[in-house]
Order: sequence, then C-alpha cells, then structure tokens
Amino acid sequence: HLSFLSLSLGVPSRSGAQERRLVVLVIGSGGREHALCYALKRSPSCGEVFCAPGNAGIAHSGDATCISDLNILDNVAVISCCHTRGVELVVVGPEAPLVAGLVDDLTKAGIPTFGPSAAAAALEGSKDFTKKLCDKYGIPTAKYKTFADPLEAKEYVKEQGTPIVVKADGLAAGKGVIVAMNIQEAFDAIDSMLVANTFGSAGSRVIIEEYLEGEEASFFALVDGETALPLESAQDHKRVGDGDTGPNTGGMGAYSPAPVLTSELQSLVMESIIHPTVKGMAAEGCKFVGVLYAGIMIEEKSGLPKLIEYNVRFGDPECQIELVVDVEVRFQPLPHYGVLLRQNHVLMMRLQSDLAQALLAACRGELGRVSLSWSAGSAMVIVMASNGYPGSYEMGTIVKNLEEAELIGPMVKIFHAGTALDSEGNFIANGGRVLGIAAEGKDLAEARDKAYKATEAIDWPEGFFRRDIGWRALSTFSYTHRLTSLL
Ligand code: AMP
Repeated sequence: HLSFLSLSLGVPSRSGAQERRLVVLVIGSGGREHALCYALKRSPSCGEVFCAPGNAGIAHSGDATCISDLNILDNVAVISCCHTRGVELVVVGPEAPLVAGLVDDLTKAGIPTFGPSAAAAALEGSKDFTKKLCDKYGIPTAKYKTFADPLEAKEYVKEQGTPIVVKADGLAAGKGVIVAMNIQEAFDAIDSMLVANTFGSAGSRVIIEEYLEGEEASFFALVDGETALPLESAQDHKRVGDGDTGPNTGGMGAYSPAPVLTSELQSLVMESIIHPTVKGMAAEGCKFVGVLYAGIMIEEKSGLPKLIEYNVRFGDPECQIELVVDVEVRFQPLPHYGVLLRQNHVLMMRLQSDLAQALLAACRGELGRVSLSWSAGSAMVIVMASNGYPGSYEMGTIVKNLEEAELIGPMVKIFHAGTALDSEGNFIANGGRVLGIAAEGKDLAEARDKAYKATEAIDWPEGFFRRDIGWRALSTFSYTHRLTSLL
C-alpha cells in the first residue's frame, strides 16, 4: 500500500538495483528522538539519518549521525545545515523549536518538515486556544473558564467547589497543572500563577476546569492538515513512585496497547475529538501537520472519552513503545532485532510499512493514501532515572552493562534519553530521565518480564525505576512478587 511512494522516493527496487534514498534530520536529543532515529534508520526509503544535537547513546548505537554542535533554536543555522547535508525530510521532536517557528521556516525554504507550524503548535502552547477550539467545534472536554484576575478566579472556584483543576495557560514544563482537592489548594495555585508569576507569561492567564474522574490514556494520530491516521494506543505513568504516588514527572514508563482504549473507544476518540480538531484547525486557517498526542480521560460516570490536553509531538516515553511496536510489525517474519539489524537489506524487500514514507506523506498532504499495520503483540518501556528525580539529582554517575542488558532477550532495546560518554568511554548519566528500556512480547506480561529482566541487568546504583509499570492493565502486578520466576 505504500509502494506508490517507494517509486517516487527511489527505494531499492525489487530487482535489487540500489537507488538514491532519503536523507533525514531528526531534531532533538532525548529518548523520543532516539526512538525516531531507530525507526527511521530501518525504514527502507531512508538513507542517512542525522540527529541534532542527539546524544552519546544515539551516536554510539549507530542509529543516527549526531550533529552535536547545531543550535536547534537557530532556524537559519538549521536550514543551512539541511542544505549542506542534502536533507530531504526533517522530523522535529521537542516543543521549543516548534514554538520558535522552525517548521514554518524550513517549509518556506522548501524542506519537507514533519511537525506543526508555530500557529498550529498553539494546540499545545495555549490551553485557552484549545479550549476555545473545543467550544467552537463541539469537542468533548472538561467545563472551564479562563481568568487573568485572581479575585474573579477565586470567586469562580468558590462557586464550583472542589476538587477542581487550575492550569497555567502556556507551556510550564509539565508543572502548570494543579489538581486542587480543597479551596485553599486552588487559591494557592491561583496566587502562584497570577500574583507571584511563578510561570512568567505562561501563567498570566489561568484556566479553571472541572475535575474529571476516570482513567487516563494517550492517543496518537498522524495528521497531514486534513486527514488523521490513528497510531496505536498507549498508557503512561506520570507519577514518580510505585502505585502512582509522589510528584508528576515527564513519564516513568508506558505500554501499548492500552486495554482501556477499546476499539470502540478509539473510533469514538477519532470521531468526536481528533477529526473535529483537524477540521477545526483547517477552518481556522492553521492546518495541523504532525503528531496529535491527545491526553484523554475516559470519564467514569459517562464512560465517554473527553480531551484533557493536546501535545503536538510524539510523547516521550510513549513514543519509544509506539515505534517498537511499529518496527516489529514491519519485520514480523523475523524472530528478533539482532537478525533485523544484521539483515536490513533483506528486510527492505519485504517491508510493507515505512515510517519515513508515512511522515513524508504527512508533509505532502498525502496521508489518505497511507495505512499503517501493527503487530498483535504488546510493548512496554521502563524509564530509569537518576536517584532524586524529579527533584535534584547527581550528574555524571557511571551506567554499566547496557550491552549485556540488550542481549537479555529478543526484542529488547535500550533508548538513551540522557546519557553522555566520559573520557574513558563509559556511559554516564546526563539528566533526570536517563534510559528507556523497551521490550516487545506476545502479550503485555511477556513484554513486561523482558523489560524488567533487562532493567535488572543494568548496573547503575545511582539510578532507579518504578516496579509496577503496567499495573492498570495487569491489575495485580507487582514486580517483586515475580522476581524469582523471572531470573
Ligand atoms: P495536563 O498537563 O493538562 O495533561 O495535566 C496533567 C495531569 O493533570 C493530567 O495527566 C491529569 O492527570 C491531571 N488533569 C488535568 N486536567 C484534569 C481534569 N480536568 N480532571 C482531572 N485530572 C486532570
């Protein structure tokens, strides 16, 4: 079904003749970008993969050539780098360059770029913008009101009662949402945003929102401006501690598919949330191209999905499992990645689905002609973070046994989110979330067992991970109980 694109891209033909292949640049430096490089590198239409700035693990794995000195917030420098290296497709991972208009400038320069324009990135950059879009196009979401005045905001909280949710309008590094269980907490959040200006201009307006009770899930769709193509569902673990305790983080682990998002619910999310958003954005004159990552609450009382928020990029860590699942599909006849990596040229002949082509089709508005297939299996990723994260933590501690961990079993892959190399060639921790240990299995229990086994094999006393990733889907799961049977 993708062969129409293969022809135009000059993929190696079935007769074996080697033709020119796509040069791709991935923008970013985390585990998400490592997963993107990994999947792109294995796309048959893809030739060279660059990653800017990338990280030590990405460079070491050979999944991309890192351009570590490129300033990804300098649009002119990025365009010039694309010209120098012959880049034909750019994939933007993180939000900051999106908001800085990188996609607009690259597109103007004639370089196909996967990601939203700065105007369309408002779906993530301004919660007020998204809420207004929901109102106008009938997209189900929590009831809300926006305030710039703290007294009016507090009056509204008193009227509505608690629990209630207070949100900074703009980007606040994942810290701008307070679920207030009592009036005082809500007032404190309002004061911190509107009076103390904790989040600067991002908090100069607050959204006060109805508290939704239910189970959360992430939903992803590729969008080309008019057409949306759903990816598989996934579920994240935002809290740092087992049993969903402790502060929120950038994500401690995820799995896919998320059983809570049944196929009926997925259709409902597409019909009631994703399609109206894509149509609404086009009608507003800011067509959305890129990944729409919707945070969904399956509301307990109605059983219906409601939009909590949009991100305009692949989630991290969910991206890692999405791509593991995708890669597995494409190489399904083969038993494991080791074979896959070594026999890439053979695989190209058999590939049905190709990430690079799907992303390029999105840039060209041709997504309607693409369909993606997925494995029937499940995948899980466990995040290893520096002790102390999301608070303060030590940098530079040595992480050992990564290669051994990857050899624990088939379909195990380690993504580097925050690593560097020291002068002796050891991997060292270079951030809060350091590694994503991903595994694929015939079902979620198998994926989990492999991922935890690999995680245990890593020698890093200064790091930690949650021991209950997947507990919602596996209900009674507790890793320690299974330890003896695993090892
Ligand atoms: P957000 O950054 O908007 O995804 O919010 C962070 C987290 O706050 C979400 O993942 C939810 O757990 C929680 N949250 C946000 N909005 C609501 C809401 N209206 N009702 C209940 N929980 C919410």
